[in-house]
Amino acid sequence: MFKALVVKKNDEGKTSAAVEELTLDQLPEGDVTVAVEYSTVNYKDGLCIGPGGGLVRNYPHVPGIDFAGTVEASDDARYKPGDKVVLTGWRVGEAHWGGYAQKARVKADWLVPLPGGLDTRQAMAVGTAGFTAMLSVMALEDQGIKDGPVLVTGAAGGVGSVAVALLAALGHQVAGVTGRPETADYLKSLGAGRIVAREDINETVKRPLEGETWGGCVDAVGGAMLARVLGQMQYGASIAAVGLAGGAGLPATVIPFLLRGVNLLGIDSVMQPYENRLRAWERIAKDLPMDKLDQMVHPATLSDLPQLGSDILQGQVKGRVVVDVNA
Ligand code: NDP
Repeated sequence: MFKALVVKKNDEGKTSAAVEELTLDQLPEGDVTVAVEYSTVNYKDGLCIGPGGGLVRNYPHVPGIDFAGTVEASDDARYKPGDKVVLTGWRVGEAHWGGYAQKARVKADWLVPLPGGLDTRQAMAVGTAGFTAMLSVMALEDQGIKDGPVLVTGAAGGVGSVAVALLAALGHQVAGVTGRPETADYLKSLGAGRIVAREDINETVKRPLEGETWGGCVDAVGGAMLARVLGQMQYGASIAAVGLAGGAGLPATVIPFLLRGVNLLGIDSVMQPYENRLRAWERIAKDLPMDKLDQMVHPATLSDLPQLGSDILQGQVKGRVVVDVNA
């Protein structure tokens, strides 16, 4: 028997989430069975745990879009019992049971061996949010990051916190946009040199082009904020568009693309091929300062998850929540 957070849907379509005991034969099919050690709370997890079930494709369901742990059994030659592994993406926690359990069974193709230098707890302190921040930084680097500050929106959230710490560790000046002024000291401790208040930037575009300010941007917010930032980018600079915490619409004009050559780079962490995932995890192990990562982390247990799922949807989670599934 092992413990898992199980989301169920009743005949009226109402969902509920509770910690239950399951058996190994209830796990979905897959090549590799993992003894999960840690998972995390991401925005998508909030949607999957919350009322209505968000992105969940089948019930009952075990959410948790990422996990790290130790291989317990494997039908795939690439993994053997005792190997440390990490998983993000591939609709795990949405269409396939995920990491909010002490055991998971998944396709070997979805896993990545834990890179040297990271333990399973650190890997989940990074988690999907931090992995996506790394993909964003790599996408910006491919296009060339300009001199001058790199803007991170939704800075106090999961993607934002890791992006701030990574960019600062790589030697960039970093500006963080936050709607929570009380997080300013936290963001400065991660490496942000400048804090921008959300209300100063999150408004409908008045002029399609403003001063050339940002040498790059990691945007976790979308909506009106992304539209405004487009007109503030330096000539030829790039924005890695990650999320929509502030809305899915984009009330922008094409002018920043035409007259400033701004690049809008879409970032998708879910369907990344194995080589890209491996490269990103190796960069995380090499470039992300572990003392900064420690500052972002809040510990949690499986029974904390229903409340945390609601908190993250309301933008109330600071940094990264690491779930110890065995606590
Ligand atoms: P968090 O909730 O941890 O962070 C989001 C942050 O956005 C909040 O902390 C808050 O930052 C800010 N924010 C929230 N609501 C608003 C609003 N209405 N207007 C302006 N700012 C707002 O979530 P994550 O960091 O985990 O994820 C951020 C986004 O990225 C989500 O949309 C998520 O779905 C997406 N995502 C996409 C991935 C991909 O593969 N493309 C992978 C992972 C996440 P502050 O308090 O500092 O203002």
